[in-house]
Amino acid sequence: MIVYGTRSTHLKSASLPNVRCTNCESQHKMTVSVYGRHVHIFWIPLFPVGKTAIFECQHCHKGFKKSELGNDAQLAYSNFKGSVKTPIWKFSGLAIIALLIVFAGYSNKKDKERIATLVEQPAMYDVYTFRTKQNYYSTFKILEVFKDSIYVNYNKYETNKLSDVKNIDIKANYDNSMYYVLTTNDMETLSTSGDLKDIKRD
Ligand SMILES: [Zn+2]
Repeated sequence: MIVYGTRSTHLKSASLPNVRCTNCESQHKMTVSVYGRHVHIFWIPLFPVGKTAIFECQHCHKGFKKSELGNDAQLAYSNFKGSVKTPIWKFSGLAIIALLIVFAGYSNKKDKERIATLVEQPAMYDVYTFRTKQNYYSTFKILEVFKDSIYVNYNKYETNKLSDVKNIDIKANYDNSMYYVLTTNDMETLSTSGDLKDIKRD
């Protein structure tokens, strides 16, 4: 369950000495408080979604919306609102999301580098995860490494999701009586095709 909603916090208050109260006619008693609303997910502020101004006469204590006051209030408020800043913490969630995206991009790049290094130096028992021509995923295991080729055992099973490959990568699924020869060329083709998804080395 994702808990989300909006929440308001007080941003800034000021007195507006030139604004007349339309209730008690006091001339110098008007104040304004600005509240900023933000969207939160699990109480982490995600991004701001607008501000509300509440006016209050400190003499009669009546509260007003801007539209309930005269032109003097409109003017005073438009001068004041430029000084009301949205605090940066209201963007925390967006900042976290941006960091996660950067981090995911970084780990993805690191992982590609790791795979590129391993494929150049194949070793016995390496398990390669690859995408098949029909867009399924399967594995093969290296049995032996020679100068220009490797012997591999293919997995008898395929999955339609990459994340499920770990479930079929079990010893019983490799037919040890059949092995295939992959040349250095084949390995290069696989490596550059984008179909090589992972290499597991213990
Ligand atoms: Zn008043």
